Amino acid sequence: MWSTSFELSDSKYANGPERVSDEQALRSWASTPGVRRSMLANKRRDTRPELAIRSALHARGLRYRVDFPPVRGLRRRADIAFTRRRIAIFIDGCFWHGCPLHGTSPRRNADYWGPKIAHNMERDTDTNERLAEAGWVVLRFWEHEPVDRAVARICAVVDAMR
Ligand SMILES: [Zn+2]
Repeated sequence: MWSTSFELSDSKYANGPERVSDEQALRSWASTPGVRRSMLANKRRDTRPELAIRSALHARGLRYRVDFPPVRGLRRRADIAFTRRRIAIFIDGCFWHGCPLHGTSPRRNADYWGPKIAHNMERDTDTNERLAEAGWVVLRFWEHEPVDRAVARICAVVDAMR
């Protein structure tokens, strides 16, 4: 389940024309299999890594909410939430959220993607702060992180807050 999203980092940068307009960039990127995969993998909900984590948690008997807004009136939604324990979990796409390993601004079309990614990263930081202020524990994982490791950390936090 992990292999496809893992591949996106390389294929994304390797393909594509040198100089194109924004729209052309989007179209041509989306026209390569690697980018289509990455865009699918970066949909806000139900990404492959998220599904894998959810099913692993479920298999351990844990129950949680999906795509849950932790703070009333705040338009931010956790990918996974343990509402009683107030644990909010986000699985961030490497590209859109600026993963230090895979999300560095693309060498091509950096002017186009850079600001969008920077905006997402600022928003993530803001979300962390607002949720923390409201008493939530925020856990963030990159989509490239091994599912087992993410699940182990989530379980450790859940256990600690029983
Ligand atoms: Zn990554």
